Amino acid sequence: MSSGEEITHAIKRQQLVEEIKKQGITDERVLRAIAKVPRHKLVPPELEDWAYENRPLPIGEGQTVSQPFTVAYMTQLLDVKPGMKVLEIGTGSGYQTAVLLEMGAKVFTIERVRSLYLSTIEKLKALGYIPAYAGYGDGYQGLPEYAPYDRIIVTAAAPFVPQPLIDQLRPGGKMVIPVGKDVQEMVRIIKLPDGKIKKEIYDRFVFVPLLPGKE
Ligand code: SAH
Repeated sequence: MSSGEEITHAIKRQQLVEEIKKQGITDERVLRAIAKVPRHKLVPPELEDWAYENRPLPIGEGQTVSQPFTVAYMTQLLDVKPGMKVLEIGTGSGYQTAVLLEMGAKVFTIERVRSLYLSTIEKLKALGYIPAYAGYGDGYQGLPEYAPYDRIIVTAAAPFVPQPLIDQLRPGGKMVIPVGKDVQEMVRIIKLPDGKIKKEIYDRFVFVPLLPGKE
């Protein structure tokens, strides 16, 4: 791609950042990551022109990448610091993965749709985004091999908070997960240093469902 097109994309990304700032995103590290990640390289090629619209987009296999505002909202709630171990459930397009990597997190990501996982990993690698672990797995079980995690982010609608994810969270850790059936409430679970659970409830969103098992 010509550098002219790259500049056009960078300008569109900056406009997107201004838009999500107006919607209430204040965390500079999140805004910087959104300003950097080439979303147009992670959505299907035919949707490239829509990549910097603030809307969800289809990514194949009946799945969608969330609206940039939603990604920013969840990432802000997650409160990620460089070097933290973050488990992401639902790799999807890899956009959220790239945002977390851009913020300096060590990202462990799992996806239940094999074809999606395989194609996304290739795209991420080509862009220089290398997760600590990317695999084909069932988010309801988490990823016990590498637990505990400082942060866990679930990017699909969960009917309940899966217990294995709570177990895999480090004391002092935080998890952001949309919970509900047709409409989801954004829930932030904080595991206190003594292991007790604190639950905070935020705004409502609509996600594709967290489906049971691997496809
Ligand atoms: N983070 C993604 C969001 C994609 S949508 C992005 O930025 O594009 C949610 C994803 O979660 C879909 O790809 C879907 O296949 C996946 N998913 C649904 N249920 C799952 C489960 N039980 N385990 C792992 N991934 C799951």
